[in-house]
Amino acid sequence: MPENNVGGLSTCEGSSPSGAAGTTPATYWIRTYGCQMNVHDSEIYAGQMRRLGLVPADSPDDADIVLLNTCSVREKAEDKLFSELGRLRWLKGLDAERARAGKQPVRIGVTGCIAQQRGEEIIEREGSVDFVLGTRAIRALPSVLEALSQGHGGQVITEDFIDFDASDADRLDRVRAFVTIMEGCNNYCSFCIVPSTRGLEIYRHADDIVDEVRGLSMRGYREVTLLGQNVNSWVDKTAGLDFPGLLRRLDDALAGNKGGVERIRFLTSHPKDLSPALIEGMGSCPKIAKHLHLPVQTGSDRILRQMNRHYTRDGYLYLVEQLRETVPGVGLSTDLIVGFPGETEDDFEATLELVREANYDSFYSFEYSPRPDTAALMYEDTLAPEIKRRRLVELQELQRGIQSRKNREWEGRTVEVLVDSFSRKTADDVSGRTSSNQIVNFAGEGALIGSLVDVEITRGCGHSLYGTVCGAPR
Ligand code: SF4
Repeated sequence: MPENNVGGLSTCEGSSPSGAAGTTPATYWIRTYGCQMNVHDSEIYAGQMRRLGLVPADSPDDADIVLLNTCSVREKAEDKLFSELGRLRWLKGLDAERARAGKQPVRIGVTGCIAQQRGEEIIEREGSVDFVLGTRAIRALPSVLEALSQGHGGQVITEDFIDFDASDADRLDRVRAFVTIMEGCNNYCSFCIVPSTRGLEIYRHADDIVDEVRGLSMRGYREVTLLGQNVNSWVDKTAGLDFPGLLRRLDDALAGNKGGVERIRFLTSHPKDLSPALIEGMGSCPKIAKHLHLPVQTGSDRILRQMNRHYTRDGYLYLVEQLRETVPGVGLSTDLIVGFPGETEDDFEATLELVREANYDSFYSFEYSPRPDTAALMYEDTLAPEIKRRRLVELQELQRGIQSRKNREWEGRTVEVLVDSFSRKTADDVSGRTSSNQIVNFAGEGALIGSLVDVEITRGCGHSLYGTVCGAPR
């Protein structure tokens, strides 16, 4: 479960809800667990705090408002949350001292998927929590803080309060931005907790999506990732648009644009909803990145049925074939689960075989873990942990070989890279991605961040490529 500590912009405006009146502004600290949707939700929380006059704190110990934005996809997420809350409990011991200094008590909030699922129970179990906001109640933060400052006790909101507008979000990245196009999922894959934490699908209007992407482009963002649990099922009936139609509209809206958004990505796609029109659009729209993340989960038809995935292994591989024919050079990644209840050696072998055939550029792989409120609980989880572990290691070993070979095939080629950061290994190098989502590192200065540059690949390694610049940035 990835974690990110998020701060907002340190501008100060309006009143200070928790700091000492008339002195220093109040501060906030956010810990984010989980996927990009949670990261973007934290950016929206950070933007709301800024509008309330709060500034980011360096750590929870210095914060007036502490927010844990949770994820429940992996096992033991709740145990981890409550042990984190236990560690933060001492902050509540400072209330008397804070009152003498004219400050309000520290407020501790839990948001995200566990908040949506457990609601009231969180406050009942951990008395230091002041408020709980579900995944659809992000915009309730200001009213909840106001209610607390007026002396109202623990606040819990888990009903709909959806507002897709993220124009006030404090985005963590100045090159790439997330844009939410839908909330929820209707699919009920038997292993997945999302439909019970994020609810059923609600779609954002096409005009609002296009306006937000245009606005980001005018502000100098170079890449946008459209977010949703199952973006392929997005639809705007009033505008008469489906997801491929939306991509075309965005491609048109950004045509001729200089210095703004050059690439549109999207996450996540369900294979059953991947239409020929979407594949065709990826091949023909210049602004649509040539990368698809297409979770397959397993290579066994029997397990796919038990997972309620509504496609077969052959159907999936046919999509991959169509994609590679229509979108030359496309990058392909996936998600895989090993050790689903009752997975036999034959089932697992079918997964290995599918990975060989699909020839992925990368993947995320996990051991199955039972999640509350999911249909897979009806199957007995009989596989020993060491079998799941052994299968995961074998699968990852196979992919390591495929990836190293594929990455070496890039050597000698010139690719267009959108530079997005300094390299993780050395500050003398910068790092970026190709349209197909390959990570490329090369010697360069920070001034290149945000530019597109041509890079000749000199070395293909396990996870990334290395190269040298061979042209002017643009
Ligand atoms: S498509 Fe399946 S795995 Fe993806 S969010 Fe929906 S239920 Fe979960």
